[in-house]
Amino acid sequence: MRKNIVAGNWKMNMNHQEALALYNGLISNESEMDENVQVIIAPPSIYLSEFSQIKSNRIALAAQNCNENEKGAYTGEISAGMLENLEVQYCLVGHSERRAYYGETNELLKKKVDALLQSERTPIYCFGEVLSDRETGNHFNIVKEQVIKALFHLNEQQIIKVVFAYEPVWAIGTGVTASPEQAQEMHEFVRELLAEKYGQTTAEAISILYGGSCKPANAKELFANPDVDGGLIGGAALKIETFVPVVNGFIK
Ligand code: PEP
Repeated sequence: MRKNIVAGNWKMNMNHQEALALYNGLISNESEMDENVQVIIAPPSIYLSEFSQIKSNRIALAAQNCNENEKGAYTGEISAGMLENLEVQYCLVGHSERRAYYGETNELLKKKVDALLQSERTPIYCFGEVLSDRETGNHFNIVKEQVIKALFHLNEQQIIKVVFAYEPVWAIGTGVTASPEQAQEMHEFVRELLAEKYGQTTAEAISILYGGSCKPANAKELFANPDVDGGLIGGAALKIETFVPVVNGFIK
């Protein structure tokens, strides 16, 4: 059975005091969180070392990015090995903001995925079309390309370790959410791609998250879809009052 996952991406928000207060607040609310959901938060990387030393029974940590190289003269970067060192299990790869503002390509993201798997970390691979691709009906082609180019060199044992996150760019931070039907349709499409390449059993074992203006008001109807295994949450992850209800979006 694949995991239900809700991951909060804090992006470049919150000073140290605010971040610590939110993390501790989430830990205090762990008993309120659906125990069938793997909860993950991705704070700014500067806080990972401290957070990794604070005991949490429920919340796993993720980095928002890492470098594709093992080590060396890459000023400002962090490596997958450093995450391994801190026991930070997850790392976002290819968030649309990294693709758009830092020019990250599918070819580069492939290397980041490899570096993470090498360090036994779990990539959360983000992909999704921009609005013009959806408007021209090109969204399935774009998603197919993003998935195949960055991931389909992996073997079955490797692909099963990747968490997928479909994030239509037009829905990120805009307040416009994909409808449950649009989310399900794309998730099913991705699972079919996985099944064609790796077989049905492997495809069924992989979690595919939805991201894009997911909040308490719409989490339940999104997560109710058979191929939506949780969410990658931006804005609603910055407050306990909005994040915990999203985590509990699987509860009927
Ligand atoms: C995101 O950035 O991954 C995201 C889903 O943001 P938001 O929930 O704010 O749309």
